[in-house]
Amino acid sequence: MTIPHDSSIRDVVILGSGPAGLTAAIYTARASLSPVVVEGEPSSTSDQPGGQLMLTTEVENYPGFVDGVMGPDLMAAFRAQSERFGAQFVPGKARRVDMSASPFSIWVDDDPEGAPTLRSRALIVSTGARSLMLGLESESRLLGHGVSTCATCDGFFFRGKEIAVVGGGDSAVEEALFLTKFATKVNLIHRRDQLRASKIMQQRAFANDRIVFRWNSVVEDIVGNGSVSGIILRDTLDGSRTTVDLDGVFVAIGHVPNTALFEGLLDMDANGYILTRDGTRTSVDGVFAAGDVQDHRYRQAVTSAGSGCMAAIDAERWLAAREGAEPGNTDTLATAGEPAQRR
Ligand code: NAP
Repeated sequence: MTIPHDSSIRDVVILGSGPAGLTAAIYTARASLSPVVVEGEPSSTSDQPGGQLMLTTEVENYPGFVDGVMGPDLMAAFRAQSERFGAQFVPGKARRVDMSASPFSIWVDDDPEGAPTLRSRALIVSTGARSLMLGLESESRLLGHGVSTCATCDGFFFRGKEIAVVGGGDSAVEEALFLTKFATKVNLIHRRDQLRASKIMQQRAFANDRIVFRWNSVVEDIVGNGSVSGIILRDTLDGSRTTVDLDGVFVAIGHVPNTALFEGLLDMDANGYILTRDGTRTSVDGVFAAGDVQDHRYRQAVTSAGSGCMAAIDAERWLAAREGAEPGNTDTLATAGEPAQRR
């Protein structure tokens, strides 16, 4: 028997409303699957859900926008496009997901012990990742106004300027090296006197005379009114403070995928990113993952959107295969009330 056509059971629920989730919504809506998007919560520095692009200002590398586009405007357009084809949105955050049996159950901002908010045959997980931040008030106030978490996105704006990169891992060194294409001087600020980054990255950074290392230093404050004009560094050894005049601060102290909800449910790598294979399939049959939640390598809006499209197509084909199944031919199908197959 195929999964029953209970009207309260949706074909596709999408968790997350960044580029991956909204692209999955556009594609599944156009495939007449009436997707429901669980929006997620706004971040601390944005009043709207919609992922990391809500925290950026101008996006110049999203194809199709010759003159660039503001991150929040781009996400509003994604959303309007999905709504045009009938995608529906549920405000709030998924608090619990039951993937043990198909259809899957999702609780959104409800009592996790009560009845589920949504039930769905297929599930697309696109809950994204977040950059670790320093936690300074000035950092959140100036985010998108000189403070950035993405050199690829924002490096171009710092052509001919002096900037800082905070962190000592591969991300920080990679960003610092990339930013030397634009900035005249890159201050690499690290809290210890040794980099965590791989040796080859260290060698490249040490060989680049545009990078100045500020060891045993932490950013105590970011100075600026409307845009960044400098940073205050504290020496961790003697406690002394130094003000450095500069125009941009790139925070590169690591990322964390938003996968706490799926621990023990979906296979993940050592850093908590969801493992996908054969396209966007996860370790649970009928559950697909797209965007930064499964990609620590590229982390671009366009690659997220692309994987959202892939997840939508994979989910559509997965559902179609089940619709086409003959009654009784259940050997490869997850059926209502039966355990979803782990692959
Ligand atoms: P990471 O390896 O965890 O490094 C984070 C860095 O930020 C560390 O140097 C850490 O200092 C520093 N840091 C953490 N919290 C801080 C805070 N509150 N204040 C100041 N500094 C802080 O993260 P990542 O660089 O993003 O790399 C993550 C993973 O991706 C790694 O496995 C990395 O190898 C990989 N990666 C690879 C590439 C590549 O191969 N091209 C590029 C990027 C990332 P401490 O050293 O003192 O702990």
